[in-house]
Amino acid sequence: MKFDTSPIAAIATAPGRGGIGVVRVSGKDLSPVIEAVCGLASGKQLQPRHATYLSFLNDDGSIIDQGLAIHFKAPHSYTGEDVLELQGHGGPVVLQMLLARCLQAGAGIGLRLAEPGEFTYRAYLNDKLDLAQAEAVADLIDASTEAAAKSATQSLSGEFSKTINALVQKVINLRMLVEATLDFPEEEIDFLEKSNARGQLAAIRASLEHVFSQASQGALLREGLNVVLAGQPNVGKSSLLNALAGSDVAIVTPIAGTTRDKVTETIQLHGIPLNIIDTAGIRELDSHGDEVERIGIQRTWAEVERADVIMHMLDAARGPTRADEEIAARFPANVPVVRVWNKIDLSGHKPAAEEQADATHVYLSASERTGVDLLRNELLRIAGWQQTGESLYLARERHLIALKQARFHLDAAAEHAATSDQALDLFAEELRLAQERLNSITGEFTPDDLLGVIFSRFCIGK
Ligand code: GDP
Ligand code: ZN
Repeated sequence: MKFDTSPIAAIATAPGRGGIGVVRVSGKDLSPVIEAVCGLASGKQLQPRHATYLSFLNDDGSIIDQGLAIHFKAPHSYTGEDVLELQGHGGPVVLQMLLARCLQAGAGIGLRLAEPGEFTYRAYLNDKLDLAQAEAVADLIDASTEAAAKSATQSLSGEFSKTINALVQKVINLRMLVEATLDFPEEEIDFLEKSNARGQLAAIRASLEHVFSQASQGALLREGLNVVLAGQPNVGKSSLLNALAGSDVAIVTPIAGTTRDKVTETIQLHGIPLNIIDTAGIRELDSHGDEVERIGIQRTWAEVERADVIMHMLDAARGPTRADEEIAARFPANVPVVRVWNKIDLSGHKPAAEEQADATHVYLSASERTGVDLLRNELLRIAGWQQTGESLYLARERHLIALKQARFHLDAAAEHAATSDQALDLFAEELRLAQERLNSITGEFTPDDLLGVIFSRFCIGK
């Protein structure tokens, strides 16, 4: 991003009609806009953080709308700058007029339209939010399930950042110890023994694992699980979808896969969005096939390649057939497969789940809804879901990657610590790299303010 720092304005509420709508302005000093739009005598101000009911005025004095004006004075605002919020009636035309009026009144101070995310970007620049919190703002707005919203709030409130910062602090403490020793080479010899550096490192690695598991669970809530449902016609795929969803109406947000068919449905499992791709749709399309459809089919198969799990449904009463084998032959090699044997009410099988060499087999009846929980558990197991009751962080892929890289460096540090020559400088370097990766999560690139920490907290002369 390379935004300038001129004042910005935008309609903050969703497009369309609503009871109220909000125009938000942020900048270093907004008095010209406030005076003009709110009709205040020159030099007069709105009482900060108080809602004042007044008329929003055009430059000819005519009234655009009546509503509430709130002035948040810097730094006590969302962006950390002066913020003016004008709450008027939520019609698209009236809000556009109000926005245009603000831009006109602010022309002298360089007021311009805000870019997407720019208010939050300023909040980040002004230290109102760190990077992970800023991301959580977007995630909360985008949350598609209650569980996802809850964990976004958790990240937004700074819980995730706090955990990361605590981890960083532990790494810093260990680095301080090591780097102090590096200055006195004769002390290196039994440093690792005396200082319990290995113990500290082990504790750090354990904390990282814990954060990582919470973050991956959160990422699951955010990204969901891509599930391919494959099987011959009439084996009971639609019935299974309904059974998984719990009721027929629980099938939410159908996504149009291609022009003519509906290939993906999203249902929820413990708040995890399951994006279910029905390959039946693909095979039906295979038979006709103009160019557009063929591209659609290719795309869908590409999605199958990226699936997290494949449910291959078979008729337990009929037993496996050649057509079943042909379907299975199209599955990508390294995606876990659950073989779902349906209609056990006809076959006389008992509901069961068993692990076998190539796949897990689950026996159930979709229409009788027996054994469906076994399948649910199996999907959650494959997803790596753990019911911890702990609050989760709605982590992003970026966070997971950073955590994995930090883990890589901590592992390397552990290896250096394990060797007999105790390569302390390499040990220290890996710790530094791990810290850097962790810092990237909250956006704090503070490479060598570490020195400052060392000198302020550690008495070298002793
Ligand atoms: P799809 O074509 O794979 O989506 O299969 P459907 O879900 O439409 O089901 C095909 C037929 O099988 C319907 O008549 C269902 O009522 C029936 N069916 C589905 N599941 C079961 C089951 O577990 N037991 C029995 N007896 N019939 C089932
Ligand atoms: Zn069907």
